[in-house]
Amino acid sequence: MKLLIVGPPGSGKGTQSLRMSRALGIPHVSTGALLRHAIRLGTPLGESACECVAAGHLVPDALVNELVRERLGHTTVRERGFLLDGFPRNRAQLDGLLSWLNPEALDAAIELAVPSEIVVQRLTSRGRTDDTEAGIDTRLGAYEVETSPMLRDLEAAGLLIPIAADRPIDVVTRDILASLAQHRAKPPTCLPMQRVAV
Ligand code: ADP
Repeated sequence: MKLLIVGPPGSGKGTQSLRMSRALGIPHVSTGALLRHAIRLGTPLGESACECVAAGHLVPDALVNELVRERLGHTTVRERGFLLDGFPRNRAQLDGLLSWLNPEALDAAIELAVPSEIVVQRLTSRGRTDDTEAGIDTRLGAYEVETSPMLRDLEAAGLLIPIAADRPIDVVTRDILASLAQHRAKPPTCLPMQRVAV
């Protein structure tokens, strides 16, 4: 299965991804986690990405695309599919992804929808180093400006499954799994993604 999970910072992508990945038996690929790992190790990628991540800006598309493309070549991903968390985050990244895959291979994109007041509350209590007031603002702004337009492409392609994520963790997980099963049971009715993405 090839799935995307999209949502503003603090919407619970990481938590839900872990649960989905276990329930569905597919590898979880988180660009945020991969970038933080590279930064901790001090690799060249980590050094290039460090300032952007700390400030809450998106890391340049070329760097992230390369990181994901390399991951998608791993044997487990080739055999079992993937749950991509935090990628794609804009139209350029979506275009990259579609150019490496057969566009019809994407099964669905789960969108975790949460009002921004709740997101801010959750992030300020989380305490990750990029969860400063300015960093949160920048990331929410990037979500509005860069990610929201991409959601329209996924919606037009019939791939988007919106989920209300301001509910208890277990309730959200059950809703995701049930909605996904329902989505997969439906015959595809929409245009192939490639023709929809701008
Ligand atoms: P959150 O969604 O809570 O901001 P993530 O762990 O998904 O947390 O991402 C943390 C940071 O990593 C982002 O603010 C950004 O700097 C960088 N990042 C992650 N994924 C991408 C991506 N696809 N494109 C550009 N930057 C990214």
